[in-house]
Amino acid sequence: MHQPTIIQARHQLKEKKYSAVELLDAVYKRIDVVDGKVKAYIHLTRDIAHRQAEEADQKLAAGEDAPLLGVPIALKDLICMKGTHTTCASHILENFVSPYDATVVKRLKEAGAVLIGKTNMDEFAMGSSNENSYFHVTKNPWDLNHVPGGSSGGSGAAVAANECMGALGSDTGGSIRQPAAFCGITGLKPTYGRVSRFGLVAFASSFDQIGPMTKTAEDAAILMNVIGGHDPMDSTSADVALPDFTAALSNDVKELKIGIPKEYFGKGLNADIEKTVLEAIKTLESMGMQAIEVSLPHTEYAVAAYYILACAEASANLSRYDGVKYGYRSGHADNLMDMYTNTREEGFGEEVKRRILLGTFVLSSGYYDAYYLKGQKARTLIKQDFEEAYKKCDLMVGPIAPAPAFKLGEKLDDPLQMYLSDIFTISANLAGIPAMSIPCGQSKDNLPIGLQLMGKHFDEETLLNVAHRYQHTTDHHLQHPTL
Ligand code: GLN
Repeated sequence: MHQPTIIQARHQLKEKKYSAVELLDAVYKRIDVVDGKVKAYIHLTRDIAHRQAEEADQKLAAGEDAPLLGVPIALKDLICMKGTHTTCASHILENFVSPYDATVVKRLKEAGAVLIGKTNMDEFAMGSSNENSYFHVTKNPWDLNHVPGGSSGGSGAAVAANECMGALGSDTGGSIRQPAAFCGITGLKPTYGRVSRFGLVAFASSFDQIGPMTKTAEDAAILMNVIGGHDPMDSTSADVALPDFTAALSNDVKELKIGIPKEYFGKGLNADIEKTVLEAIKTLESMGMQAIEVSLPHTEYAVAAYYILACAEASANLSRYDGVKYGYRSGHADNLMDMYTNTREEGFGEEVKRRILLGTFVLSSGYYDAYYLKGQKARTLIKQDFEEAYKKCDLMVGPIAPAPAFKLGEKLDDPLQMYLSDIFTISANLAGIPAMSIPCGQSKDNLPIGLQLMGKHFDEETLLNVAHRYQHTTDHHLQHPTL
């Protein structure tokens, strides 16, 4: 079975080239061969997946159809799936078994997907390299000495290494797009509110979004059709109509205006990235689109605003891990206060603790106005930058990260350097707009480079449309790592 996309697998299953069980067995065989090196998964859900594949085969035999019938999909390990571990790659949730399905999982099951396992991530989605996982470090399948990106690095690596047909990740400040770029795959962060967060373990609730990580834009559209749409279980889920993203792929892109934010180029941008992204813009122009320069003047405040606000929200969200209701409880404590303290001290990793401390600090009286409130004001200014820019263009294009995948350990002792590498992705989360990464070339060292497409609120259609047309014209998305 040669590296099928979701679309190809669907056709081949329907044509009975192989059964869903055979496809699943092939994927697990691939995992058995390569995952010792890549380490993309935390848990495999072999029994559940096997049952789902058998059920899919019965349905296929009966002539039934569903958008993902028989297709093996992986989930980032902060998405709850009933009866399976959901660890967030944290010691504190190491033994937590979810009693319910996240809405996205429910929808994937209804669509016939075969859910094969939970992928590695930075603890509680805090990080840009996967090195903050309590369990192990995921490697970049293109070069095992490099990081796969984060925090959805397990999902990115699993798709790139052909250890699943597609995966879900989550993006709070770039965690779908940056690993997608580092691993040479396609990743979409939807508009805030487009995909239900019910059953997604919260990091920063006003930023978090679940989205697809796939081999092609076409596959991302299929997953969006399945997971998107209003959900009464999530009060921040938007009650807006869900378009048919697959139908949108064939729209005409000729008249589109693409904005090139000038703040995303120049000083600090790696030369290979700059060259490759500018070439991609030329390709988009040759496809009939018009590129114009736009400005996002408050970009320089994005990193600071994001790390203040996301940490503030995280400090509140993570207060629930106290050793009482669920998760790890410290064995050595004589009284309740010590139990809380020791549980959190022993259960959380260093980066998570750093963020809880920072978040608690910026929310504390006396500092609230100086930091949290200022962060909110900067967020509004950044949002207004996008509104202004979108008066002149239909979508924006730029780099995903200042450099290709860095080496394992390279930024681990320098959290600030790690934070700064998020400069081009976090604005989309601050503004709540959809944004996407698609492969657009490689560096001198053969590491993948991602092109970022940013859209207007609830206009994932244009992003998927342009990405699909670009993938029709180029073959960057067809390159695979050799493992
Ligand atoms: N790298 C960013 C952070 O560490 C983004 C993480 C994310 O999107 N979950 O917060």
